[in-house]
Amino acid sequence: VPVAPDDPYASLNREQRAAVEHDIGAQEGVSRPLLVIAGAGSGKTSTLAHRVARLIQSGADPQRILLLTFSRRAASEMTHRAGSVLHRVLGLRGSQAPTSLPWAGTFHSIGARLLRQYAGRIGLEESFTIHDRGDSEDLMGMVRHDIGLTQTQKRFPLKGTCLSIYSRVVNSRDPLPLVLQSTFPWCNEWEEELKTLFGAYVDAKQEQNVLDYDDLLLFWSEMAADPELGVELGELFDHVLVDEYQDTNRLQAAIITGMKPDGRGVMVVGDDAQSIYSFRGATVRNILDFPKQFSQPAQMITLDRNYRSTQPILDASNAVIDAALERHAKNLWTDKVSTALPQLVLIPDEAEQARWVCNRILEHREAGIALTAQAVLFRAASHSAALELELIRRNIPFVKFGGLKFLEASHIKDVLAVLRFAQNPSGRLAGFRVAQLIPGIGPANAAKLLDAVGEAAEPVLAVEQFVAPTKSSGDWQEFVDLFRALRTPGLRWPADIELVKNWYMPHLERMHDDAQVRAADVEQLAALAGGYGTRENFLAEITLDPPEATSDRAGPPLLDEDYVILSTIHSSKGQEWKSVHVLNVVDGCIPSDMSTGNADDIEEERRLLYVAMTRAKEHLHLVVPNRFFIKQQAQMGDRHVYAARSRFISPAMLKHFEECVWITADTQKSRKPMPDSVRMLVRDRARKAWK
Ligand code: ATP
Ligand code: MG
Repeated sequence: VPVAPDDPYASLNREQRAAVEHDIGAQEGVSRPLLVIAGAGSGKTSTLAHRVARLIQSGADPQRILLLTFSRRAASEMTHRAGSVLHRVLGLRGSQAPTSLPWAGTFHSIGARLLRQYAGRIGLEESFTIHDRGDSEDLMGMVRHDIGLTQTQKRFPLKGTCLSIYSRVVNSRDPLPLVLQSTFPWCNEWEEELKTLFGAYVDAKQEQNVLDYDDLLLFWSEMAADPELGVELGELFDHVLVDEYQDTNRLQAAIITGMKPDGRGVMVVGDDAQSIYSFRGATVRNILDFPKQFSQPAQMITLDRNYRSTQPILDASNAVIDAALERHAKNLWTDKVSTALPQLVLIPDEAEQARWVCNRILEHREAGIALTAQAVLFRAASHSAALELELIRRNIPFVKFGGLKFLEASHIKDVLAVLRFAQNPSGRLAGFRVAQLIPGIGPANAAKLLDAVGEAAEPVLAVEQFVAPTKSSGDWQEFVDLFRALRTPGLRWPADIELVKNWYMPHLERMHDDAQVRAADVEQLAALAGGYGTRENFLAEITLDPPEATSDRAGPPLLDEDYVILSTIHSSKGQEWKSVHVLNVVDGCIPSDMSTGNADDIEEERRLLYVAMTRAKEHLHLVVPNRFFIKQQAQMGDRHVYAARSRFISPAMLKHFEECVWITADTQKSRKPMPDSVRMLVRDRARKAWK
């Protein structure tokens, strides 16, 4: 078929096109399962977006397409991309683009949507609220306390550890003893108690009508496994497409097979070399087993041309991943030639690292690379502290992903708790928080209130009849009025959040010296709210995938402003920048100290470095500070350690890098970065310094 010159499919290579055209034109909904397994930057995500457009173009109903991605951002980018492809093709033909959009989102957010829709059928109350990780830990702690495990058993695992064990059992579908043995051996002795605890935790969630993250997948997979409901769910969608399939867990795979036992209309894409979420129960087995997971065998397509990075960046990244113990060889190639090798930069310490990175960022900007085309990546959110200070000092705007979330600020939690309590008055964590915002009400009175609300048929009545301590009666009455208004059916979103905001502001001023800064955050939250349609949807989405901005700064820069991206490597998945810096490429960071336990963990850290390196299009800088600061577990205290280059960059791989040494004057005397003329990039010196 001849292609029009601006045909958006014309740029696809043969394999990509095969994936996009796979079983198109076959009878509606009968396309066979398809796996695209390919290396970084080979166009998996763009192929998926083109496929969505192609499906709609060939007559598929967008509302019957389900697109599962790794983050909300990825979902909206992909629908946008599919939309623009579609627009171009249909524009060529002069026909109208469809107005509806596919269902797109993370497994968790789609799960929340489906559970709300099917709540009545599976014995859930539709008004359920969702606990984030912090809430879940708190509830685990409360339950643990209630069943008396805290007092009697001093060495009992912390609430966070308990939740991790619970979560691992749910997501891996492995029995508790196996999970303990393989992943939490130091908790082995508590098997019986943990079983009791988890039982009580599950009961508490049910009683309070709350779901945690794991429940969203668990309940969905239970629905999918049900002979009747599973079929019904499967029939909702003609096409199910999944990006980053290597990072799904057993529950997620079970959801797909439950809904689509014969794999019809299922297409997944992924790269086994980029599997980095096993700590959350993800298993690379999903992608390796995909071909034989359904009642009919899956087709498989591999892509081997990389469109993202220059050849030297690709060579260095390939060298790192080729050393993996278990390797599924892929021969990525690119036609992007370049003479610039990735840099391996040896630096005295983290403060110098921050300065060096800032200098480089500014140099790149001078050379025409916008700040938004540059990213700095690191292993753990805390590793960017020194850099953030330096960026602020130099007035370089930045946004940090994967760090402290907006949601973790106490004032944001307060506002959300009021909305949650109004939606689901049985939720005790939210209720507890809200009640104690009112002056004169402490934990004992809050508990009394919640007991009364929990037993009442009509929560508003219970709140109205509650006898508050006299000291707080005026404030109390205001709260009663607010609660009544929020529970009144028919009040429109986002009017609710305005009510809450107006009620909350005086309390905010009373409680905090920096009320003004916090008030700006609350305003920002209220401004966001309108975009979510309904209160339920707002609460669910914001809990599952919170806005990324940190609240202790003035909020995210305006959208048209230029800013550098700071991100954990985990959150950088699927993205790309012209220039990428990776901080702390030293043993202890990559691989992390916490992971050096077993070979599998170390292999995952190697893949993590590979993911980081393959984000770069043109410039890649790996920075190796000679001394770095590690935050340790409480009892050991923080300390500086002397560090060595990450073991993942072996001496044999050095040929793929330009080695640089950052030589500074005595840093104690002079805080100023050295001018370029003094900075020396000397290969020979570098060689010696490594030894
Ligand atoms: P990752 O494994 O990191 O998620 P990926 O395989 O999903 O990578 P994409 O992000 O889809 O890769 O594509 C990488 C880059 O290559 C993007 O900038 C994309 O626009 C570009 N690209 C993909 N296919 C082509 C093509 N056929 N022609 C030109 N550019 C392409
Ligand atoms: Mg991708």
